Amino acid sequence: MKRESLIRLSKSSIGADEKRAVMGVLDREYLGMGVEVQNFEKALTEFFGRPALCVVNGTAALHLALQACGIGRGDEVLVQSLTYVASFQAISATGAVPIPCDIDPLSLTLYLQDAEKRLTPRTKAIMPVHYSGGVGELDQIYSFARTHGLRVIEDAAHAFGTTYKGKRVGGFGDIACFSFDGIKNITSGEGGCVVTSDPDVIRAIQDARLLGVENDTVMRYSDQRSWTFDVSRQGWRYHMSNIMAAIGIEQLKRISEFALKRKLLAQAYDKHLRENPNIKLLNHDYSSVVPHIFVVEILNGLDRDLIRQALADKLIQTGIHYPPNHMLSLYSEPVLHPLLFTDSLYPRLLSLPLHVDMDLSDVSYICSELIDALSR
Ligand SMILES: *Cc1c(COP(=O)(O)O)cnc(C)c1O
Repeated sequence: MKRESLIRLSKSSIGADEKRAVMGVLDREYLGMGVEVQNFEKALTEFFGRPALCVVNGTAALHLALQACGIGRGDEVLVQSLTYVASFQAISATGAVPIPCDIDPLSLTLYLQDAEKRLTPRTKAIMPVHYSGGVGELDQIYSFARTHGLRVIEDAAHAFGTTYKGKRVGGFGDIACFSFDGIKNITSGEGGCVVTSDPDVIRAIQDARLLGVENDTVMRYSDQRSWTFDVSRQGWRYHMSNIMAAIGIEQLKRISEFALKRKLLAQAYDKHLRENPNIKLLNHDYSSVVPHIFVVEILNGLDRDLIRQALADKLIQTGIHYPPNHMLSLYSEPVLHPLLFTDSLYPRLLSLPLHVDMDLSDVSYICSELIDALSR
């Protein structure tokens, strides 16, 4: 089977409705934060069953959530090292120190026994990252946080649509932050949201996303702005635009279709690769997990980078999620306890293409080329 076009690792899926919605905003010539943002927030609030606030991207959502919890200089936040640098940058942006933790080798989510060892009197919060869409043992993280008086800020950038014990991720717990960047489970171009039941956090973020201008959100919802105002706290220019929200509203309508497709593709990958002795799969149950990326572990000392090259030669794009943050110059500190699983797993991780415009024959093709490359 010869392919002519590249199978992309990930991509947006934009239909006529998204394009029409953006044109509507452009025609109205009110591009900033206004009615569309309010409507997207209403739709998200209904989706999660509790308040959601839109911001400019997922990193801003995490930064604002941490700031709203009063986390800053002198504080420490526990977070898995194997995550996008966004999680770490959001923490260090507040002045707090991200404390890199190890991962559970089966789900690649935060390994609680390891996090426990890194607890200090300065620990103020824990940030579980829902790596690839699975949430690991989230209940245990919440009971750990309760025991030690920690805030929980979930980095749910990968997990839009995932359910845990029958409940929608973001619909329960302390604070969950999502990303709507171009390749996430739904997109608004760029964008993100914070979901929480905490009215103090909601109030703080409403102002902080608009440069700290107090009560400006209410004005913006009616396409107005405040001309006299006070500012009493540090804020940022982190609000969402109407153009972005217009895309997001249409994408949210397609979430069931998107979720179903992502689950179906992941299940097909599992079926093709399950028996292969050179591959280990994540332990996700795709009846509840909506996968953002499809990650496999390459076993038996086979060279991951050679396999990537072999797949690239067959027009299959792959990825590596992610360089562990404790190996980055900004965040490398001498660690008391080594991150054993992260260090040993990272060189063996490989992400295969996953996006909703693929079909089952793409998965078959990718798997047969992968199996071929593994047996050479
Ligand atoms: C995408 C992502 C973010 C940040 O989202 P942006 O919208 O890109 O700022 C945070 N954490 C993880 C794990 C992500 O993949």
